[in-house]
Amino acid sequence: MTAVLSLRDVGIRYSPDPRAPLAVRNVTLDVRQGETLGLVGESGSGKSSLAAAMAGLLPRQATTVGQVQFDGQDMAAMDARAQRRLRGAKIATIAQDPFTSLNPVVRIGRQLVEFQHWRTDLNATARWRRAVEMLARVGLSDPDIRMKQFPHQLSGGIRQRVAIAAALLVNPRLLIADEPTTALDATTEDQIIELIRAARAQIEGAVVFITHDMGVVRRLCDKMAVLYAGELVEAGPVDQVFADPRHPYTRALLACDPAGIEEPSRNLPTIPGVVPPPGALPPGCIFAPRCPAARAVCQTEKPPRLPVAPGRAAACHLIEATA
Ligand code: SF4
Repeated sequence: MTAVLSLRDVGIRYSPDPRAPLAVRNVTLDVRQGETLGLVGESGSGKSSLAAAMAGLLPRQATTVGQVQFDGQDMAAMDARAQRRLRGAKIATIAQDPFTSLNPVVRIGRQLVEFQHWRTDLNATARWRRAVEMLARVGLSDPDIRMKQFPHQLSGGIRQRVAIAAALLVNPRLLIADEPTTALDATTEDQIIELIRAARAQIEGAVVFITHDMGVVRRLCDKMAVLYAGELVEAGPVDQVFADPRHPYTRALLACDPAGIEEPSRNLPTIPGVVPPPGALPPGCIFAPRCPAARAVCQTEKPPRLPVAPGRAAACHLIEATA
């Protein structure tokens, strides 16, 4: 099946200067129709940068190397107008804070109508009706009243539902959710995750879910990509990676997942050390300073990314290629 989104050796730098360090390096992955990909990693791992590159939403001064293909089309080869049209009609994003995607001084209804500007087959009344129906579909009571409210009059959970409704109004091929539940309480988080699961069933496309929460990945995603300091260190089907993580960083993330800890504890485990910034990467394996399994070779040689099973790969000197 053709990939909805295909990345090949993608790198991102936040400067037009080619000597500036890449914040994301050599990322290769595919997301196919019907799949939900979980992009995981700590803060500073590059997952939100990668999501922004997927959505064509990197800041103006950023540059991308490698290839980003959407439905087989090279996004870099498109002019700005074609990229904007793609974003408006095929790619939708749900941000961590819906205030970043909703205009605070415009009523919800007007915004949801404007989100459908590309639906030239519908007049303003039909777009309004479609927006009301969508608010009801994402579980909001009194959608007619919501349409007349401003974002600041809504709770965080309701704002996130409005953001999901806005994304679904696009009927996207690719839905990118960037830590959409981080600011929410546990009950609202559950509801939003279920809504995104339902959204995947509604769209004829794929979902990319960015999170640092391995529990959410297990519940929602089919496959996962683990990023560390801007590089993909492990990728594969979620059930396989959870059952047999091959990279020490993936194992460390799983060890910190509260859902996997049998004895409730006041002190959740953490990974000692910090993610190195792009300009100060260690010379060998980028995880070596924090890796409990590091060996001498890890300090000097970068591990290759090796296939470990069909559809699975990891980058670690301790792994032997098996596929
Ligand atoms: Fe750890 Fe070495 Fe593997 Fe890097 S290559 S993850 S330092 S064992």
